[in-house]
Amino acid sequence: MRAAGVGSAESVGRCPHGTSIGSLALVEPGTIPAESELCVACGLCCDGTFLVWAPVEPDDDVTGLAAVGHPVLESEARGRHFALPCPALVDRCCSVYGHRPNICPTYACKLLLRFREGAVDSAAALETIRTTVELRDRVRPGVESALEVSTPRSLFELFLEMDERRKQEGGLSVDPSLLLDIALLRRMLKEHFEKPRQEAGGSGQLDEAAPGELAQDPSHIG
Ligand code: SF4
Ligand code: SF4
Repeated sequence: MRAAGVGSAESVGRCPHGTSIGSLALVEPGTIPAESELCVACGLCCDGTFLVWAPVEPDDDVTGLAAVGHPVLESEARGRHFALPCPALVDRCCSVYGHRPNICPTYACKLLLRFREGAVDSAAALETIRTTVELRDRVRPGVESALEVSTPRSLFELFLEMDERRKQEGGLSVDPSLLLDIALLRRMLKEHFEKPRQEAGGSGQLDEAAPGELAQDPSHIG
């Protein structure tokens, strides 16, 4: 594999996660390993749709994050970590491919794990990704507008904030069609992407049943 410069045109267009695909620029169309084909169609982990943060190990290369001005944070609850969405994601691919933290090539969501086990085939997995990404694209602008969010935030975190605000007296009023789309998206994420709580430790996934975690963790985005 050729070394990629951080943020260089050569490094853009590489698969964000999972496999040792190397450079998409170096392979023939149609020869991308199946796992990577799923990830380059997706990016829902890097873009914070269902994850809020990602861990940073002591020996991690964080020059890629630094190159895009993304800080490494530290908190008691999460240890060293960086916030999601990650600004290095460009068009669903990693722009700092050769300089990613270790979690990036090793992380696998529930869908990717099920694909590896043969429990779901490539066509079905791609269809799940397509439907979920479409829903995400419909939902995110409405949620950001309702909460008057002006900086990139994890969508999952925004869902929890919206839940809290709607519970308050005289709480947030949200268009019913947006609420329906949010419910559908959350169901898709829970069913296909999020791991069960006991398997998700340290992977930046918050439990919907424990929104207090946001308040307890001083490093939460926002
Ligand atoms: S959410 Fe899963 S399928 Fe999508 S990019 Fe991440 S690991 Fe790949
Ligand atoms: S550095 Fe950012 S964009 Fe690249 S794989 Fe890691 S989380 Fe995704």
